[in-house]
Amino acid sequence: MEFETRAIHAGQEPDPATGAIITPIYQTSTFVQEAVGVHKGYDYARVANPTRTALEEALASLEGATHGLAYGSGLGATTTIMHLVDPGQRVVLIADVYGGVYRMTSQVYEPKGYHFTYVPAEEFDDNLSSYLGDDVAVVWVETPSNPLLNVVDIRKAADAAHAVGAALVVDNTFASPYLQQPLELGADLVVHSTTKYLGGHSDVVGGFIGTNDEGLAERLRFLQKSLGAVPGPFDSWLVLRGLKTLAVRMRQHCENGRAVAAFLEEHPAVERVLYPGLASHPNHEVARRQMRDFGGMVSFLLESEEEAVAMVARTKLFQLAESLGGVESLIEHPARMTHASTADAPFAAPRNLVRLSVGIEAESDLLADLELALAQTPARVTSASA
Ligand SMILES: *Cc1c(COP(=O)(O)O)cnc(C)c1O
Repeated sequence: MEFETRAIHAGQEPDPATGAIITPIYQTSTFVQEAVGVHKGYDYARVANPTRTALEEALASLEGATHGLAYGSGLGATTTIMHLVDPGQRVVLIADVYGGVYRMTSQVYEPKGYHFTYVPAEEFDDNLSSYLGDDVAVVWVETPSNPLLNVVDIRKAADAAHAVGAALVVDNTFASPYLQQPLELGADLVVHSTTKYLGGHSDVVGGFIGTNDEGLAERLRFLQKSLGAVPGPFDSWLVLRGLKTLAVRMRQHCENGRAVAAFLEEHPAVERVLYPGLASHPNHEVARRQMRDFGGMVSFLLESEEEAVAMVARTKLFQLAESLGGVESLIEHPARMTHASTADAPFAAPRNLVRLSVGIEAESDLLADLELALAQTPARVTSASA
């Protein structure tokens, strides 16, 4: 069946007890057993819960995964993956990794004796192998990346990782499975913050891991119950509801994202637009190859940090807030907000960077809002006039 159909039906049979068409919120912590060990597949809700199972099956289907595991947050999923790595082993990550992942690696795991190498996006496609060795357990990729919208070739990264026996993890939060399916391109694990496009309505925090590797799936299932970073039934239900409209929402996010990127690229106050759909993007061709479309995240550089900070407070429709992927448009200043924890990293977010999560409102209203906010931003001084 097609993606749109699976989003609505996979793992979501009508409730056998009542016929309810929507998977119920099984708000229960435990399940009655007929005799010791004789039950209907559920014994305790940290181990498994039917609402969570429906979400895990639906999302696994969308990622082309045989196994899906849901978590209480994207970082809950990430820290669980970190438990596949032993102290002394090394993890190689794309340099402009999500700020919260960098905070975890640099301030939680590094002090415990884990080793991390951050590879610049420009080096990833052709030079990743020179950063790898037998000590590497995991290669961690975000594509498109947050907040710089860097794109890396997933197939190439998988080949390089596998050559040294490492697993490739792809954080697919920005693309969503509608736009990109990393497992098909060779990744071993796909990870999500379901808080973003999958939930889609800015009303829930959650995470997910999908895989086709039996061994990794078994280990992750064990870690899920043993570490306990699980989502509750209501949160699982919210993400499940969000999934049903993922395809139509993503189509509109992409259309609006494309319009906003084109508008910004023409605007005299804007230094540079970072959007994989623009021909000017350094890895536009790779994005075209491995993505169905280019998504709703658009970043751009203004003349200075002061301009960026002032501009993000001037939009009315684009609300000033962290997070992304909801139906409503958001604007933020990564260096002081989402990526403040990378301030001391060699790959800190540029101080003059603005990040947009373009929602699914009318395109004309979104462009008018940006136009007005940018009208008060002085046009950049071009090198010709400087
Ligand atoms: C938000 C985000 C995360 C973290 O997810 P939470 O649900 O906030 O824990 C990880 N990766 C990316 C790319 C994100 O945008």
